[in-house]
Amino acid sequence: MSEKLITIATFSQAIEAHVSKTKLESEGIICFIADENIVNMNWFYSNAVGGVKLQVKESDVKRALEILHQKPISVDFVTGEAEKEDEGIFCPKCGSSEVYYEKFSRRLVFASWLLLGIPFPFFKKKWICKQCGYEGKI
Ligand SMILES: [Zn+2]
Repeated sequence: MSEKLITIATFSQAIEAHVSKTKLESEGIICFIADENIVNMNWFYSNAVGGVKLQVKESDVKRALEILHQKPISVDFVTGEAEKEDEGIFCPKCGSSEVYYEKFSRRLVFASWLLLGIPFPFFKKKWICKQCGYEGKI
């Protein structure tokens, strides 16, 4: 690694650093967490070493800061709330347009977030009608 690493953010909690790291990695930016072990071993060292540092390559600093200053990770993504799709899709049973496409299994996403530290999307591919409760393909 010839490129210099620049600290773009510091966190008092390792988990916060990991949330930001996941966010940057989802945008294709390679990043590193420094001093995490010191902070985990002895939390009051956190102040002494300046917290958990999030570092990126010098050439990625500008983009990384832009991404970090965007809106925080979508709550919808984390909780896996069903998203409403485009207009023009109707329930085959009752004809209602109140249909939702459930992208992620809420529980699995949350479990993976707890266990692996990332909200891994488990695709369910199921339509749900709000009117009659139909579930399945459209
Ligand atoms: Zn329906």
